[in-house]
Amino acid sequence: MKLNRRTFIGTSLATGAALATPALAQAKPKVVVIGGGTGGATCARYIAKDSEGAIDVTLVEANPVYTTCYFSNLYLGDFRTFDSLQHGYETLAQTGVTVVTDMATGVDRDAKTVTLASGDTLSYDKLVLSPGIDFVEGSVNGWVEAEHDQIMPHAYKAGPQTTLLKEQLEAMPEGGTFVMIAPPNPYRCPPGPYERVSMVAHLMTKINPTAKIMVLDPKPKFSKQGLFQDGWNRHYAGMIEWVGPDFGTENITVMPETMEVDLDGEMIQADVVNVIPGQMAGKIAGIAGVTEGNWAPVMPDDMKSKIDENIHVLGDASAQGDMPKSGFSANSQAKVAAMAIRGELTGSRVFPAKYSNTCWSLLGVDDGVKVGASYESNGEKIASVGSFISQVGEDAALRKATYEESLGWYAGITSDIFG
Ligand code: FAD
Repeated sequence: MKLNRRTFIGTSLATGAALATPALAQAKPKVVVIGGGTGGATCARYIAKDSEGAIDVTLVEANPVYTTCYFSNLYLGDFRTFDSLQHGYETLAQTGVTVVTDMATGVDRDAKTVTLASGDTLSYDKLVLSPGIDFVEGSVNGWVEAEHDQIMPHAYKAGPQTTLLKEQLEAMPEGGTFVMIAPPNPYRCPPGPYERVSMVAHLMTKINPTAKIMVLDPKPKFSKQGLFQDGWNRHYAGMIEWVGPDFGTENITVMPETMEVDLDGEMIQADVVNVIPGQMAGKIAGIAGVTEGNWAPVMPDDMKSKIDENIHVLGDASAQGDMPKSGFSANSQAKVAAMAIRGELTGSRVFPAKYSNTCWSLLGVDDGVKVGASYESNGEKIASVGSFISQVGEDAALRKATYEESLGWYAGITSDIFG
């Protein structure tokens, strides 16, 4: 992503940006947060709010508006508008966070500075990284993000990719074929691809009832599999075919020029192909040198990097243990990190970390299911201490209540993050 402009949204509470100019140096401790998505924006907001101006908080985010991945599948299924997924930073700025719209391009851990695409430099006492995911190059044969994401979109970072996939689905010929290449573990939102399949099927029953959906999955099993497959049979009988590694899904090549997919020698002619590649921590985490392999290892008590004690890594980018990569998890981790950072910088009280997560998925009209757990540090990792999951065969009233619960969760988390 290229950015050539840089804007500040500030308020009277946001006393001065954390520019690394000696003349502007100030006594207040400085926190810079990279990534104004679910984890980063939550953390910035909670540090600013709870420290009541004692800490300078600067949030660096590449985009002026955040589009949630959560509920983007519901947009594909016509249950939500695209606008309802978008959130600005104005209210966050009013809680005392200096919001900088720019791309962070470098981190100097010795000098404790962050370089921005605009050329500016920010200094920090504590740095928080919550850059989400990037895609592992070459993880799907034949697909190169820079060349092919307009032909075979991933729609796994919400925004123009999401609207592109919807346009392609709406333009699919009658009786056409939608192919999803599902991602290998670990990836953001374990039920996300399968909720997407449900929502695409729902859309097709309305606009293209003879359409076919194929899911080519490198994994032998997937999150909430029994619940999804039961829902697909009940709502979309005969429309969805899920193919696992027993049938060659570990040997797939896509051909964007001809819209074909080579499944271990069998050629599939598709009309729309959704390629969800293998994933890794957002690139700035690797640039900062806090990754091992594809992810950034963190301490389970406070989300502090295992490589640099002045850096915390939140959300999808972190390797923390048992929590799934979800918005709920990122929000929960961000609050633990915010409390720990405030404690270190101002001496405020720090309580033992407790985390939680719930992932809701919509199967069809008023047919919601969920899976979730609570977590604590066991010293080594964030470990599950109790979990729950919806059951096949639940009555319609419970499924409707579960869906309604998810609407409440969306309203609550977006207001918690963005005000
Ligand atoms: P993000 O929210 O992705 O935020 C990262 C931010 O960092 C982005 O805004 C990006 O622009 C910015 N950024 C990255 N690099 C830089 C840089 N160098 N400089 C400046 N800015 C940068 N989760 C749920 O809890 N429930 C759901 O129902 C759910 N459904 C989902 C459905 C789909 C289809 C998908 C794809 C995901 C879903 N998720 C869901 C997962 C959820 O969206 C992510 O887990 C969550 O957003 C992770 O938060 P994060 O802060 O790690 O990353």
